[in-house]
Amino acid sequence: MITKKRFIAGAVCPACSEPDKLMMWSVDDVPHRECVACGYADTLNEQGNSVPSELGTRVNKPAPKVANPNVQVVQFFPNPKLKKPTE
Ligand SMILES: [Zn+2]
Repeated sequence: MITKKRFIAGAVCPACSEPDKLMMWSVDDVPHRECVACGYADTLNEQGNSVPSELGTRVNKPAPKVANPNVQVVQFFPNPKLKKPTE
């Protein structure tokens, strides 16, 4: 799998309006665009419309929430049965 990214001559970034900063490549026949100037990225849907991607598309996977194994259950309630009358 070789992803060829190439600049789009004359293309203007829709976010920062910088010309010739947009790179384009395809992933699974889906055109992706990314601006090297401001980081704007989008994809094109079947209708050729721009679908903006979230910034940081490489790290937007939701991190699984894992319970902290170091947290121990603390018993807040004193056990009344342990209170032995000393009289
Ligand atoms: Zn830009």
